[in-house]
Amino acid sequence: MNKDYCLRGTAKSEKVRFFIASTKELVEQARIKHNLSPLAAAALGRTMTATAMMGINLKGKDTITIVFKGDGVLGNVIAKGNSDGEVKGYVDNPEADLPLKNNGKIDVSAGIGFGNLYITKDMGLKDPYVGTVPIVSGEIGEDITEYFYSSEQTLSAVGLGVLIDIDYSVKSAGGFILQLMPGAEMEIGAELDDKVQNLPPLSTYLIDNTPEDLLEYFFGYDYKLLDKKNVKFHCQCNKDNFKSALITLGKVELEKLAKDDEIEVVCQFCNEKYIFDNDELLELVKLI
Ligand SMILES: [Zn+2]
Repeated sequence: MNKDYCLRGTAKSEKVRFFIASTKELVEQARIKHNLSPLAAAALGRTMTATAMMGINLKGKDTITIVFKGDGVLGNVIAKGNSDGEVKGYVDNPEADLPLKNNGKIDVSAGIGFGNLYITKDMGLKDPYVGTVPIVSGEIGEDITEYFYSSEQTLSAVGLGVLIDIDYSVKSAGGFILQLMPGAEMEIGAELDDKVQNLPPLSTYLIDNTPEDLLEYFFGYDYKLLDKKNVKFHCQCNKDNFKSALITLGKVELEKLAKDDEIEVVCQFCNEKYIFDNDELLELVKLI
């Protein structure tokens, strides 16, 4: 049963905007589909959680894509989401792993490495909006905070947490984004900063607490809930999409592929496999 959801709303007389999500099942689905190592599950899980929350803020058919292009062992970490709370994603090297840090935590920062963070918002216009910032720590949350500051001129606090159990399943996952609206007094920022600093590690907190608990911790009852939306792993791929992709390979290449009995095409985002047999490939050649 999918119990993941995202809360969206405002607080402190609309001076603060918040997104708070539980994403345990979303991250567990990604882990199973891609056979992710604990390191990859933590990195992709945090990235997907941020994507889910930022996706909820989109409208209609708009999409958001978050790409960490670092030089760490994971390679690229990519997540894509939409306004319906649907998120998908993948890691270049899903099996890459690293020793835990001295404090017992997963070393996401080393897994990501140095490089750039790209956030693309496709709003159906000719050119999608792309914001780029250098990766500041590779911890994901800090990098998204930096993106909000330098690309959207917004002061934010971003918390993302994924806890991996001893059997490698996802024990808890979730996150929050708190943003100061223009005109918000600095005292509000300082007060929230205090709350964020005093919060136990988010992944531990979320084992027994809900997004509503976190909302109350931050704001008491001084908030306005605008939306509560389900969040889930979902990929829109189907065999027809891959037909169009195969056609773009051109006649010569397709005829070459058709010499094999069948070929298998794999969706990067969800690892779903599609088989095209000899006849189907020759049908595609006819369409060119
Ligand atoms: Zn797919």
